[in-house]
Amino acid sequence: MSLKKYQDLALGGNIERGGTAVDFKTGDWRSLKPVYKPENCIHCLFCWAYCPDSAVHVADGKMAGFDLDHCKGCGICAHECPGKKGAKAIVMEPEVK
Ligand code: SF4
Ligand code: SF4
Repeated sequence: MSLKKYQDLALGGNIERGGTAVDFKTGDWRSLKPVYKPENCIHCLFCWAYCPDSAVHVADGKMAGFDLDHCKGCGICAHECPGKKGAKAIVMEPEVK
């Protein structure tokens, strides 16, 4: 992505259209990442409902992994995940780059 000169930016830093978040890989600055443990998943989709970045993939009504380009590593999904019999289906691990 090429950077714009300041003269080309919108006055006041206004965001001129919706959906611009998809253009930026905000996951680049994540320090923790969610790791999916499918053996503990009951497909309740709490992770999908609570994720503030729409970074949980769902396919055929089931949890299907993460969009790590846009996941910021907040850990809400792991916190809310009930898992199976107390064993979490999402755990947060350090990001290794
Ligand atoms: S919240 Fe946990 S158990 Fe529920 S769908 Fe997501 S990963 Fe699976
Ligand atoms: S860590 Fe946060 S941003 Fe990433 S998938 Fe979970 S809830 Fe979404």
